[in-house]
Amino acid sequence: MHTPAVDCTPPEARVQRRRLRACHECDWVSALPPLGSGEKASCPRCSHVLVKRHRYPAQRSMALAIASLVALILAVSFPFVSFSVGGIGNRIELTQTATALINFHQPVVAIAVIMTIVVLPAVYLTGVIWLQFGLLRARPLPLSRDIARSLAHLTPWMMADVFIIGALVSLIKVAGMAQIELGISFWAFCVFAILLLMTTQSIDADWMWFSLEGEPLAPEGTLTGATAASQNVTGCPTCGLVNRLDKGHGRCVRCHEKLHTRLPYSLQRTWALLFAAAIMYIPANVYPIMTTTSLGHTAPSTIIGGVVQLLQMGSWPVAAVIFIASVIVPVGKLVALVWLCLMINRSDELNANSRTRLYRITEFIGRWSMVDVFVVAILVALIRAGSLMSITPGPAALAFGAVVVLTMLAAMTFDSRLIWDSPTPRPARRTTATKDAIDG
Ligand SMILES: [Zn+2]
Ligand SMILES: [Zn+2]
Repeated sequence: MHTPAVDCTPPEARVQRRRLRACHECDWVSALPPLGSGEKASCPRCSHVLVKRHRYPAQRSMALAIASLVALILAVSFPFVSFSVGGIGNRIELTQTATALINFHQPVVAIAVIMTIVVLPAVYLTGVIWLQFGLLRARPLPLSRDIARSLAHLTPWMMADVFIIGALVSLIKVAGMAQIELGISFWAFCVFAILLLMTTQSIDADWMWFSLEGEPLAPEGTLTGATAASQNVTGCPTCGLVNRLDKGHGRCVRCHEKLHTRLPYSLQRTWALLFAAAIMYIPANVYPIMTTTSLGHTAPSTIIGGVVQLLQMGSWPVAAVIFIASVIVPVGKLVALVWLCLMINRSDELNANSRTRLYRITEFIGRWSMVDVFVVAILVALIRAGSLMSITPGPAALAFGAVVVLTMLAAMTFDSRLIWDSPTPRPARRTTATKDAIDG
């Protein structure tokens, strides 16, 4: 049988010279140490993970991507969940959580829901399979470079895991009032969410880019133990290669990503997005997020109203989830980013590390706020029993979805390297990135 001619040896076994990296979070240039599988290299200055090495990277990502795509196909082809109250019932499929919103004139929220839980993950997984298939034959398929570049940009917008939490919250919310039955699709979707997460974790970008395009030399004279900006070079955020810049801008010679010494107008853009998010947070809380009709009685409820209602029903764990996702996370994120922007000129080496950590947390938790939007999408589609019991979406759903997207964009436009710009650099320390085993 024909065995694929994939070269699974790690990049360091294939080059003799040192491979340089400029940290994407603090701009420090260091040399990558040789890594064994299951090891990662971190920036010596801010501990940002520069490279993670996996065993059988192509085979692993390919297997996981195929498995999650199968789980996704199962999840969209069977009933998701059904409910019945007083002999009247309704059964929905996964995609109806989006289409039901269109019937209630919420097309933007509907598009956001279907994109984040089905369309983007499907595109991402197909891209991974396409890419790894080419790498396994040692002959990349066409468009591989563009696909590899897009994968990293798609990752934060896939929210299958957040949707699962949304589904659990909505089911607990109605479990006391109606009978709920979980369909095959519900379990398939849970499996899909886990596999999707494992697929995104399994991508060894360093190995992938090395196998796709090789590794051009870093610009001559690049020194480790100094910032990249001071040498007019920069690290590519997508493939990691150190590139020379022309007046602070350029394109990566390996992956063609646009490069800048610092993201252009980073602070101004972040301020504008934060301001817009703060404004949208007002209608998100003033207007009802959904309206419940029960036995002919109609009651609109706001985000906070919903939390209070849940507390009165005694389900405080669910109330806590909604409160954290809808109030603490977005407000905390706004405050944290405003603080980081205000303090940008007053950071020093001592607090730069903790500020970078704060920024990382902000970037990581942002998407979890979508829980409440998903709860609305699921309940609106599922609870359809006329005047006996039904739920319609309110205008706050759109406003709140906008807050989530705007704060995510604000975190993306904020250039964390600015935190490290003002500190007076200490004498150069280690010039090689530190090496650790990957946790877990
Ligand atoms: Zn760093
Ligand atoms: Zn690149």
